[in-house]
Amino acid sequence: MTQKFDRIVVVGGGSAGWMTAMALVTGLKGRVNVEVVESEEIGIVGVGEATFPSIRHYNQLVGIDETEFLRATNGTYKLGIRFCDWLEVGRDYFHTFGHFGNLFGSQTLWAQYRRMGLAEPLGLQCVPTVMAMQGRFALPSEQDQFKYAYHFDAVRYAAFLRQLAMQRGARHTQGRIVDVVRRADGGVAAVQLDDGRRVEGDIFVDCSGFRSLLLGGALQEPFVDFSHWLPVDGAWACPTERVGEELAPYTQATALEGGWAWRIPLQNRTGHGHVFASRFIDPERAREQLLARLDGKPVAEPRLLRFTTGHRQRFWVNNVIAIGLSSGFLEPLESTSIYLIQDGISRLMTMLTAGRPLDENDRALFNDGSVRRFARIRDFIILHYCLTRRRDSELWRHVATMELPETLAFRMELWRRYGVLHEYDEEGFDATSWLAIHAGMEHWPERNDPVFAEIPPERALQALQGRRNAIAASVARMPLHHQMLGQVLR
Ligand SMILES: Cc1cc2nc3c(=O)[nH]c(=O)nc-3n(C[C@H](O)[C@H](O)[C@H](O)COP(=O)(O)OP(=O)(O)OC[C@H]3O[C@@H](n4cnc5c(N)ncnc54)[C@H](O)[C@@H]3O)c2cc1C
Repeated sequence: MTQKFDRIVVVGGGSAGWMTAMALVTGLKGRVNVEVVESEEIGIVGVGEATFPSIRHYNQLVGIDETEFLRATNGTYKLGIRFCDWLEVGRDYFHTFGHFGNLFGSQTLWAQYRRMGLAEPLGLQCVPTVMAMQGRFALPSEQDQFKYAYHFDAVRYAAFLRQLAMQRGARHTQGRIVDVVRRADGGVAAVQLDDGRRVEGDIFVDCSGFRSLLLGGALQEPFVDFSHWLPVDGAWACPTERVGEELAPYTQATALEGGWAWRIPLQNRTGHGHVFASRFIDPERAREQLLARLDGKPVAEPRLLRFTTGHRQRFWVNNVIAIGLSSGFLEPLESTSIYLIQDGISRLMTMLTAGRPLDENDRALFNDGSVRRFARIRDFIILHYCLTRRRDSELWRHVATMELPETLAFRMELWRRYGVLHEYDEEGFDATSWLAIHAGMEHWPERNDPVFAEIPPERALQALQGRRNAIAASVARMPLHHQMLGQVLR
């Protein structure tokens, strides 16, 4: 069965809905009718504040100017994430979006020096990590190449995209969907609003958030549950007033008794939240722990969000494609949700712009790729938990001893035994990111690197020292994050 797509209905007006609509009206300009249906009364999740570098690529593709975007969304720059207390209480490390030089062409050799206590922490070999440690930010230069992302107000981002998408021809329909009208072949013919209006389409993009109105609801697509490995299932979110002038150019994720807390600096406020596993901590206790950590005056009451980690078995069924929370959620530790939205949009756009009718093979390809992408990111997030040395609460005892997905167990074994960072297809994170977590969690290969005997340690350590000094000198000349942002916004 081939699929027509002259009329595309996007159900939902959160980040997923408006990012999708914006890509459609930009990439298929004038060739399709795009209509976004949303209920203001239901509202959006609106807590997606930390992103992944690919957001810049999305913004560039749809033609959004960086300064305009930062102004519209109260955005700040993000170099990566600082993980506090994950290995042990009192220990921290960074995962930034930079590289570590060639480490003598061998990560194993570097790890061997580190294990022996000869080398310094890996972060000192990485430009954005040193910038993050010093609270500095400058755009990447030819000499200092790295990626960066943003922190932003997700509600403002959706509103900003809505305005632009409507200027480019997207239609906007307000109303609560109360029913889904089906076609004889099982697909969706229309959505029915509470005032009796019907919105018909050839393709429906389900961006209805955790409700998953079409894919999970009407089409009853089963859910693949990851909560054995990723047991967090709730979050308290509470923004506070910004305190002081300085802005951290990174997200902070601090491991707590039954989950972890985020801290995300925006221009006007600081996002705080506590992601917790209700199997291991009472939600009320989690709320108190969040309130005790706030470093500014709350600007709203703490808001509770509940979820299950995992994804729908298929992401595209008949004429319904789920993008965003309606397709799945992997918990926000590595800020991958908006990235996965973008990934889904880019797969979809590749197919819609191919200039041919879509069929079962396209759907299978889309589903297969999406399932793998979720699995790869799932494994990467689990890596942050399972290497912990913490045993001070039930959550940490569980994650330290749980059985791992085979794919993750295999790559951990390869690293531990041979110092090999294996990459599968559809990776969300490259080998450098995996190395940052292994190193941050002090997980070293057992193998002695064959090059070890060949290079005298003084020479190798001198090379590391040279790179470290060059990075330190270069970063010292950069402005502080708030100074840089001030310059850009002016
Ligand atoms: C605790 C938490 C922290 C997060 N942190 C991050 C982060 O730091 N970084 C990141 O990338 N992501 C993060 N996310 C995920 C991020 O919030 C979402 O991926 C993103 O906001 C997209 O959401 P969405 O558009 O899929 O859903 P939503 O924002 O929930 O939008 C759903 C839309 O569907 C509409 N809708 C639903 N039902 C109906 C109906 N019956 N009729 C009409 N309209 C309807 C709603 O009105 C709304 O417009 C986080 C999520 C959670 C829960």
